[in-house]
Amino acid sequence: MDLYEHEARQLFKDHGVEVPDAAVAVSPREARAAAEALGGRVVVKAQVKTGGRGKAGGVKLAANAAAAELTARQMLGTDIKGHAVRAVMLAQPVDIEAEFYVSYVLDRAAGTFLAIASAEGGMEIEEVAAERPEAVTRIPVDPGRGVDEAKAAEIAAAAGLPPGVASVLMRLWQVLVREDAVLVEVNPLVRARDGRLLALDGKVTLDANARFRHARWAAPEEAGTDGDALEAVAAAKGLTYVKLDGEVGVIGNGAGLVMSTLDVVAGCGSRPANFLDIGGGASAQVMADGLTVILSDPAVKSVFVNVFGGITACDAVAHGIVQALDTVRLTRPLVVRLDGNNAAQGRAVLSARAHPLVEQAATMDGAARRAADLAQRGA
Ligand code: ADP
Ligand code: MG
Repeated sequence: MDLYEHEARQLFKDHGVEVPDAAVAVSPREARAAAEALGGRVVVKAQVKTGGRGKAGGVKLAANAAAAELTARQMLGTDIKGHAVRAVMLAQPVDIEAEFYVSYVLDRAAGTFLAIASAEGGMEIEEVAAERPEAVTRIPVDPGRGVDEAKAAEIAAAAGLPPGVASVLMRLWQVLVREDAVLVEVNPLVRARDGRLLALDGKVTLDANARFRHARWAAPEEAGTDGDALEAVAAAKGLTYVKLDGEVGVIGNGAGLVMSTLDVVAGCGSRPANFLDIGGGASAQVMADGLTVILSDPAVKSVFVNVFGGITACDAVAHGIVQALDTVRLTRPLVVRLDGNNAAQGRAVLSARAHPLVEQAATMDGAARRAADLAQRGA
């Protein structure tokens, strides 16, 4: 769950990391008022969940409140790298002396966190990392021990950052731990002419699995406004749904099976339109919810339901599908592959229902080929 810059900024502030004064506006008039309150001269920043805004025209200095209004008018409603600009942040301009890069990121492969830091932060950090990797320091952080004074000093020294950065590094670690984040990135962290260290930009990714611990996190419906609306609908029903670019809708039980289903669909020369993991449960309600979500995507030309029966046996899944067919109007063909626990009984249940748009296939490959075929015909 990625946060907007202004949300990340608030978390930094909450944990004692200094940030420039700022306000969010959703209209040019609001932008003007906010700029006035901030002293007139402001940096206008598009609030979109993508980096590189500066290079894409999403970060602009405005000399006074009238200019801020004009800039906000030009930015709002435009598109930055495919993200609609619905809000801008007005921030006090900082007289920058040096720009640094600091982040904590979960290193899944190593099973630990990584502190990444560079004395050459700013908009060119990708180029720096690609051309001179030695300018970017990476230090593993044991999640059990965290970033104490000694660790923070070690990171700062290794990256050639001023010693004062160490206390910022400790606070940012608190952001990661207390807010259940898997990524905390500040680029740039700046040293201002007056010596202060400020976070001028922030990217925070929260661990959605920790939602139950954070009453103040936005509800999925609200949080979904920037992503695919269907993802929010699915999340509200407790299902994992992800929108992709192809034409075959995919429903499966369990993350591993769903991932391999995507591969098999791709292997047939087709592309998944989306996928939905129904997890362990495959009750009629879950199937109905799942089919409703998948079929709401107009890009879907056929649906591939791939289920390996385990604790939830195939006949239970088949009953779920049959009941779902009573409540959901099936508008595109469904190819079902049932295997595993009680597969034969499950297939019999589906055969007995004999829905004209529901077909069965004995194997995963066969089902994927058929679904790809049907998608092509429906396209
Ligand atoms: P992005 O990383 O998406 O390009 P940033 O917020 O990092 O956006 O802004 C890009 C650059 O603009 C920063 O590297 C910094 O040089 C400058 N900048 C951003 N905010 C301010 C500010 N409040 N005052 C002065 N300069 C800023
Ligand atoms: Mg930045």
